[in-house]
Amino acid sequence: TDAGAERLVARAVTVRFAGLLALDGVDLTVEPGSVHALIGPNGAGKSTFFNVLSGVCPPDSGTVRFGEKELTGRPPHRIAALGVARTFQNIVLTRGTVAENLMLGRHVLTRAGFTATALGLPGVAREQRIHRERAREIADFVDLGRLFHTPVDLLSYGDRKRVELARALCMEPRLLLLDEPVAGMNTAERQRMAATIAEVRAALGLSVLVVEHDMGLIMRIADEVTVLDFGRRIACGTPRRVQRDPEVIRAYLGA
Ligand code: ADP
Ligand code: MG
Repeated sequence: TDAGAERLVARAVTVRFAGLLALDGVDLTVEPGSVHALIGPNGAGKSTFFNVLSGVCPPDSGTVRFGEKELTGRPPHRIAALGVARTFQNIVLTRGTVAENLMLGRHVLTRAGFTATALGLPGVAREQRIHRERAREIADFVDLGRLFHTPVDLLSYGDRKRVELARALCMEPRLLLLDEPVAGMNTAERQRMAATIAEVRAALGLSVLVVEHDMGLIMRIADEVTVLDFGRRIACGTPRRVQRDPEVIRAYLGA
C-alpha cells in the first residue's frame, strides 16, 4: 500500500462550546508509521481534538483527512471502519470478559453485523470463529492472553487500560488514537504500556497519536510533538525542540 495514503491531515479545526473556543484553527499532521504526541495543560482541547478525529464531535469548521479519505462529518463507526481507532481518557469497557470486549472491537469489521449474528445466518459461525481467533492473537500480543476469559471487572486498573488498547487494535486500525494511555498507572505499569505501544507500532506498522502528560514517556516514544494551549497550537516539532520552546515552558508554568 502507498504509505502516503495513510497520512492524517487535520486543517484549521475549530470547535466552540457555547462561548468557549475549545479548538481554534488547529493544524496537525501525523506521518505514516510515526508516533505523534499531543500535549498541553488541562483544558487545552486535547480530548476535544480526539473527539473531532473520531467523529464524536463534528468540528464547527476545518477538515480532517486520512489519506484520500475525508473523515470530517462521518459518524464514529464509519471512521473506525476507515482505519482510525481510539481509546478514551476514562476507561469505557463493557461488562463481561476480555474476550467479549475484544469481540465488540471486531464488530466494526463484521460485514454481516449484529442483525445477521442475532439471526444466526449461514457463514456467521465461521466468521465469528475467525474474529475470535484474531481477538485471541491480539490479546496475546498485548500480554492479556492468560486473562482472555476473565471478567474485566476483576482486572487491575493497568490491565483494564490494556484491554482498551487491545479492543482498539481489534478494529485493525492504521491510525491509533490513545487518550492518556498511562494516566493513573504506577511506574511499572507505565513502562510496560510504553513498551507495548512501541511494539505495536513496530509490529503492525501503524501510526499513533497519543495524548500524554508524562514527558519522560513522550521523549522515549514520540517522533513528533504538537502542543495545545487554550485551544491553539503553540508549538510543533521534535520532543527535544518542543521541550525547550519558551512558549511551551510558559504555558506549563502558567506564567
Ligand atoms: P483536555 O483534554 O486538553 O484537558 P478538553 O478537550 O477536555 O481538554 O476540554 C477543552 C475545553 O473544552 C475545556 O475548557 C472543557 O471544559 C471544554 N469542554 C470539553 N467538552 C465540552 C463539552 N462537551 N461541552 C462544553 N465544554 C466542553
Ligand atoms: Mg483530556
